[in-house]
Amino acid sequence: MLSTMQDIPLTVTKILRHGMTIHGKSQVTTWTGESEPQRRTFAEVGGRATQLANALRDQLGVDADQRVATLMWNNSEHVEAYLAIPSMGAVLHTLNLRLPPEQLVWIVNHAADRVVIVNGSLIPLLAPLLPHLPTLEHIVVAGQGDRSPLAEAAAQVHEYEELIADRPTTFDWPELDERTAAALCYTSGTTGDPKGVVYSHRSIYLHSMQVNMTEAMGLTDRDTTLVVVPQFHVNAWGLPHATFMTGINMLMPDRFLQPAPLAEMIEKERPTHAAAVPTIWQGLLAEITAKPRDISSMKQVTIGGSACPPALMEAYDRLGVRLCHAWGMTETSPLGTMSHPPAGLTPEEEWPYRISQGRFPVGVEARLIGPAGDLLPWDGTSAGELEVRGPWIAGAYYGGAGGEDFKPEDKFSEDGWLKTGDVGVIAPGGYLTLTDRAKDVIKSGGEWISSVELENALMAHPEVAEAAVVAVPDEKWGERPLATVVLKEGATAGYAELKEFLAESVPKWQLPERWAVIAAVPKTSVGKFDKKVIRRQYADGALDVSEA
Ligand code: AMP
Repeated sequence: MLSTMQDIPLTVTKILRHGMTIHGKSQVTTWTGESEPQRRTFAEVGGRATQLANALRDQLGVDADQRVATLMWNNSEHVEAYLAIPSMGAVLHTLNLRLPPEQLVWIVNHAADRVVIVNGSLIPLLAPLLPHLPTLEHIVVAGQGDRSPLAEAAAQVHEYEELIADRPTTFDWPELDERTAAALCYTSGTTGDPKGVVYSHRSIYLHSMQVNMTEAMGLTDRDTTLVVVPQFHVNAWGLPHATFMTGINMLMPDRFLQPAPLAEMIEKERPTHAAAVPTIWQGLLAEITAKPRDISSMKQVTIGGSACPPALMEAYDRLGVRLCHAWGMTETSPLGTMSHPPAGLTPEEEWPYRISQGRFPVGVEARLIGPAGDLLPWDGTSAGELEVRGPWIAGAYYGGAGGEDFKPEDKFSEDGWLKTGDVGVIAPGGYLTLTDRAKDVIKSGGEWISSVELENALMAHPEVAEAAVVAVPDEKWGERPLATVVLKEGATAGYAELKEFLAESVPKWQLPERWAVIAAVPKTSVGKFDKKVIRRQYADGALDVSEA
């Protein structure tokens, strides 16, 4: 028997229309580095998005599912692009401005981008790539920055403000199939070629609803969210769409991502929520320890992208700011879990739940696969690879991407689950604790050592700023951990002391014998520890390694 319910497609267009009318008074505030930030209401942002759609269609001829790329910081114009491009039926392609130039070129060509909207401050990044981007016909420049490097460009150059000025604030939005492509984002490609994940209107709509659930970020129009996580990184964790659904005000840092301006914008604009990777919160903590600022407006902070060191969570607890741990990936839109503890627990009892990656929402089904391909129980101790499936989880990559060595069966199971490459345990009640990336886990004499556990334990030492642990070859054990540490200024701790400190929380056989002090942990384009660089440095003899 069929249902009697209406079958209305779930589209970004609906989110745009809803936000600009029902929540027309909510605001997008963009930091400018000057005395006053730029402020626009959702009604204005929605109106400008509609004008942008008109300009893209009438002047630039963007039609059907053509790709319109953005090379932009988090700001109002980028939100306008987020809403306009999918709503007109085209595909928004966010470009990661921290990728090496050759990867950017590869990605633009693979996606066959026809138009790019670029921030003026990023022209120096784009201009040298242009001779290698034959599909690009139009460049639209938004915001301040020297335009002269574009003088020789084969593509036509437009000014964003001029392009949208005097255009109608209505558009004949097409009736879209909710399963069609809305946005395209490539994984950072630490191994092999980057892989494109194509989000549908439906996946974005459902994911936004999940982001807004109390079990996830749970914000309303009384909140302001500081969106530090870049719009080029998994759609800023879904926030630009989720905010338009429920009228959450947005505070956008533009290019001012350093700890000092972040502290200043928090103190002045008083956001109630923020979202960013742990390295941002480490940096902010050091900043406000050196120069105290009032960050108490932030009631809840969503932290993810890599494991949150428990010591960091404790430090923010002392400041009255609750870090809420979340796990996800480009392939999962990204919200996969969030760590709200179950009801009825004391703060001490809540702690293990808070430092876990959190529990799965209804839209994310999970299973753990053991080393022999067997299904593992959710007993909190059996460790295996996490597989997930659900309406906002990728089932394939775009256009056969992934390079010659890429085998789809390495990422997708025969029965349609995404193989995450993350290793962990699931406790009864569905709380996930990740112990490692499958490729980072240290295989010592047939036992697994979690590099993340060693790092977290080391980063709890008062003189350690950062620590990264990698597997290195060992004649006797196959692999053993190498601990690389970044010491705080004026630190006096030696390797023996650090090892003793580790022994308080880690089994003896897991303690690293090899140690090196480094100036900074190498980071990927999205701010995660880049362990392959450390492994390479070790292999090349570029690290000053001591035995302890
Ligand atoms: P990306 O697609 O670049 O966002 O990377 C996704 C990967 O980041 C995941 O597969 C995890 O390995 C890692 N990751 C994301 N969130 C967390 C977290 N809360 N704890 C540990 N690792 C995480």
